[in-house]
Amino acid sequence: MILHTSALHYLVKELKVRIDEMTWFEIKEALEAGKKTVIVPIGSIEQHGPHLPEGTDTFAGDIIAEKIALKLGNALVAPTIRPGCSQHHMEFPGTITLTPETLMQVIREVCYSLASHGFKNIVLLPTHGGNFAPTATVAPEIARELRDVNIIALTDLKELIVKMNEVMAEYGVNFEDAGAHAGASETSLMLAYKEELVRMDLAKRGYTGKYTTSQLFRKGLKAFSEIGVLGDPTKASKEAGLKMIDILAEFYANKIKKEIEL
Ligand SMILES: [Zn+2]
Repeated sequence: MILHTSALHYLVKELKVRIDEMTWFEIKEALEAGKKTVIVPIGSIEQHGPHLPEGTDTFAGDIIAEKIALKLGNALVAPTIRPGCSQHHMEFPGTITLTPETLMQVIREVCYSLASHGFKNIVLLPTHGGNFAPTATVAPEIARELRDVNIIALTDLKELIVKMNEVMAEYGVNFEDAGAHAGASETSLMLAYKEELVRMDLAKRGYTGKYTTSQLFRKGLKAFSEIGVLGDPTKASKEAGLKMIDILAEFYANKIKKEIEL
C-alpha cells in the first residue's frame, strides 16, 4: 500500500500525545480541540537488580501513560516525574531519592503549571511503590487548591500489583516469581518496551519469601535480597509484557473515564 506523504504526516500528528515531544503550537491546538486531560506519571531512578536499568519505573510510566492517553483519545502525557521516593533502595549504587516532602512539592508545582494552561483533568499515575503514599497525601491538597480542576490520583498500589500478577499468572508465573521489584512482572514490561536495555544473561532469581511492605520500607530492600530483586526475572517474557501494558492501560483508562463522568 502506498500512503500519500500528507496522510503519513496526519497519522504521526494524530498519535502525538507526549507534551515533551510536542511544540507549544501543537499543545495549544490540542487544548483547543478539547484535549483537557493530562496524565502525569511518577517514576523513579533506582536500582532494579543486575539486569534492569535504573530508569525502569520511569520507562513504565512513559509507556503506560502513553497507551492510556491513546485509549482515552482526548488526553496528553506530561513527562514522567523522577526521581521519586526510593529511600529503601539507597544501599545500591545509582539510586537517587527525594524526600516525600520534595516529591509532593514537585507534583504540586507540575499540577499548577498544567492547570494554568487549561487542563481540566490531571491524572497522577505513580509507577513506583515509594511514590504511592506521597501522591495519595498531596493529591487532595492540590484538589482543594485547584478548585476547577479534577485531580485524579491512581494510588492503589495493591490494585496495580494484583493486575500485573494476574497477567503473569496467565503465562504460568506465580505471585512470588512475578515479584514486586525487578521480578518477572517488571522484567516482562521492560522486554516489551525497551528490550535493548534488559540484560537477560544477568537475570537471577531474587527473594521470593514472605515480607510486608512496611518491613520493606523500614529495613530496605538489601535486607531481603543482596542483588536487589524480589521475584524471579528469569520467568519473564516479552509477550507477557506486551499484554501487561495493554491490560494496565485499559484498566486505568476505564477508571479515569468513570472518575471524569462522576
Ligand atoms: Zn520498579
